Amino acid sequence: MLRPVDEEVEAGEFGAWLEATVASLRGGAAVEVPCGSCVGCCVSAYFIPLRPGDRGARARIPAQVLVDAPDQPPGHAMMGHGADGHCPMLAAGRCTIYPDRPQTCRDYDCRIFAAAGIEAGGPQRRVINQRVRAWRFSHAHADLQRVHDAIRLAAAFIRDRWQAFPGHCAPTAPTGIAVLALKAYPVFLDGGAAAGLDDAGRALAIIQASRDFDQGSGLGPGLPGLLASTDPPSPA
Ligand code: SF4
Repeated sequence: MLRPVDEEVEAGEFGAWLEATVASLRGGAAVEVPCGSCVGCCVSAYFIPLRPGDRGARARIPAQVLVDAPDQPPGHAMMGHGADGHCPMLAAGRCTIYPDRPQTCRDYDCRIFAAAGIEAGGPQRRVINQRVRAWRFSHAHADLQRVHDAIRLAAAFIRDRWQAFPGHCAPTAPTGIAVLALKAYPVFLDGGAAAGLDDAGRALAIIQASRDFDQGSGLGPGLPGLLASTDPPSPA
């Protein structure tokens, strides 16, 4: 579980965030992130993939900051970072190509770690982890607090019980853990399927829930219904 910090930053209403993030995972538009002055993901030693659609970014990023990456499909490239972990396009604390920044930068939403109750990574992700600890979601009603709790239970299980997955196939990177938890939270909702299963059974249930999500179904008792619920607000 994340250790909260004194500083708090509004992450928005959890149900609205979840609905937009699910839509984005299913190929919809990227979620708008209220980064404010935070440039955590620009100083955290990320390699930034450049895709064929990143034409504006490619036109402005000098070739000498691109790095070799094996097995890249045609038209793809990878931008490296400095020894200090900073993106080469960051200057004076600002992105110098912001209107043309790559799609990966537009897609990055560190609230997914706050939603899952996990950190974004180790020491190189220190600045992002500070922001992750500071995010505070509000919950429009109690059902959404229950969904949030289930996502955190799923993430903790995937992170801590990865050996229960067949072939140890569970994701170990924080983004993979958080995304899988978001897809498979119904397994842990109100005890859900997880209640009567051992760890191996829970792992299989998570895999099945993820497949259901990827096939366009899943999310258990119906996220739209939960979003529309009029239960009284619950504490964040
Ligand atoms: S391209 Fe801009 S937004 Fe993306 S990591 Fe670099 S500085 Fe940050």
